[in-house]
Amino acid sequence: MNRREFVQSIAAAVMVPAGRRQELSANEWGSSVFDLHFHLRAQTASNLAHLDGAGVTKANLLTRGAALEQVQALQAAAPGRFTWFNSYDVTKSDAENILTQAVKAGAQGFGELKFHVAADGPELRRIYALAADLRVPILIHFQEVDHFPDEGTWSTGFAKTFESVLKGYPKTTFIGHADAFWANVSADYRNEAAYPTGPIKRGGLTDKWLGDYPNLFADMSANSGNNAMSRDSEFTADFLTRHQDKLLFGSDCACVDGHGAGVSQNNNPAAARMAGKCVARETLSLMKRSSSPAIFQKIVWGNVHKLLRIPA
Ligand SMILES: [Zn+2]
Ligand SMILES: [Zn+2]
Repeated sequence: MNRREFVQSIAAAVMVPAGRRQELSANEWGSSVFDLHFHLRAQTASNLAHLDGAGVTKANLLTRGAALEQVQALQAAAPGRFTWFNSYDVTKSDAENILTQAVKAGAQGFGELKFHVAADGPELRRIYALAADLRVPILIHFQEVDHFPDEGTWSTGFAKTFESVLKGYPKTTFIGHADAFWANVSADYRNEAAYPTGPIKRGGLTDKWLGDYPNLFADMSANSGNNAMSRDSEFTADFLTRHQDKLLFGSDCACVDGHGAGVSQNNNPAAARMAGKCVARETLSLMKRSSSPAIFQKIVWGNVHKLLRIPA
């Protein structure tokens, strides 16, 4: 395809009225769907290909550093379908300034924050305070077990220290994500595996904190969220009911077409169970069969609109 044909193909895709696309999406899942955890892709068309392929109506673009031009181009190509978060190296001295500028330019939150620092360390603490000042949520990747040799850990100390953060920053809205966050739905987890299997031992920290702290929400994306919700169907049904106002659907899927082509979980051999699958489709199907239509609708659509204070 040459450049002119490419531009024409984009124009043709944009010609489909947004209302019509939302109708199609609603038909497939029984509800419109918002993907909270969608990493911005380089080409406008590849972003839309994943949303349309997976039956997703709207998505929140996770960006890092300078991304405003790309975000605006995508928002112009598909009006009303994209919100965005911004992230920036929290170890750099200009992090607060850069993130503040992003919010002033329209970013609705910080994320994903994924750095080799402690969850209760000074680098992240100043960002927690800034998120409260700017009244935006902050999405954090918690991981204590490498996916490949020497990967290193991210926002470490979740189980040991994060409750003190939740208490210390009551005005900050936290959205938890990734391996350590989801493995700790089970009370017997001790950082022994990225994705523990088998029945859930009731009373896990993540489950407890979602109940105890109004400022904690959960991002259900990636193999971590899907794995946790696949372990114990009785637990899952109770968990979705118990935290129906705190759970937010997300995919973190990197597949090409919203049907599992390409690689769905990058750099992550431990997530082989998702090979050839679209994480968005897998998790939507799993939640649909594990909850009532009303609860499903809150998790995939209603909750995130309330949290970001945007019209549904
Ligand atoms: Zn992540
Ligand atoms: Zn996918």
